[in-house]
Amino acid sequence: MGRVIRGLAGGGTLRVVAAETTDVVEVARSRHDLSPTATAALGRGLTGAALLAHLLLKGPRERLTLRIDGDGPLGGLMAEADLKGRLRGYVRQPRAEVPISPQGKLDVGRLVGRGTLQVMRTLPSGDLHDSTVPIVSGEIAEDLAHHLLKSEQIPSAVLLGVRVGTDHSVEAAGGVIVQVLPGAPEDAIAALEANLKAIPGFSGLLFEQGLEGALEAVLAGLDFSPLASDFSLEFACRCSREKALRAIRFFPESEREAMAREGGAEVRCHWCGAVYHLSPEEIVAPDPLEG
Ligand SMILES: [Zn+2]
Repeated sequence: MGRVIRGLAGGGTLRVVAAETTDVVEVARSRHDLSPTATAALGRGLTGAALLAHLLLKGPRERLTLRIDGDGPLGGLMAEADLKGRLRGYVRQPRAEVPISPQGKLDVGRLVGRGTLQVMRTLPSGDLHDSTVPIVSGEIAEDLAHHLLKSEQIPSAVLLGVRVGTDHSVEAAGGVIVQVLPGAPEDAIAALEANLKAIPGFSGLLFEQGLEGALEAVLAGLDFSPLASDFSLEFACRCSREKALRAIRFFPESEREAMAREGGAEVRCHWCGAVYHLSPEEIVAPDPLEG
């Protein structure tokens, strides 16, 4: 389970949302068999989506989707979050990999490439609010900060990090968004900037000091006060056997009969990697009567 902490700092002029997503990102890695840099990319995307959900969604029946279309080897990334703590996501090329950067880091920017970042909010009515900005660096945190400023007029600092071990498992993943509210004093902003400059990497901080320790470093001298409630996070998909069957029913009858003759069909959910084995009987069964 991961978790989200929210609160205020700087005398109520800085709004803070932070998440620890280590377990969630490890589930995503193993479900999709991700390469180390793809793990870092999807981990940042999932964490970013969870944080954005807490900044932008109005209620538990809304959903936030982050879509990154880049020209790098990753081929694109999708991440979805809601306020019930459910996260899911995938990348188009899970085994894509690039060399370690000259700074010795997983080179997410190079794996993602250039293109667009889109943030969609699905309302309970099914209506969609969305906005798209160009990718600035492909590092995702910087791109989300750019999006928040350009599309939401929210000046903010965004840190996202995923630490992958030598056995390629996820050792730490998480992030924080600090939103600068109107009227924030210059000295609070300067203190935040100085703190951020002193942090070499968020995932290392998280790995060594945990979420509370990492937040203390980000908000040193800014008097952080968390809100009472903690939110838990988990990798959870909305797919089901029924939805897989419904998808199969979109095929023409002749094609369904061909699938049945071959002994059945497998439907794989691209969001979570779940595979549904459908029997010949299920595939050719007449559509249920609805009335
Ligand atoms: Zn699924």
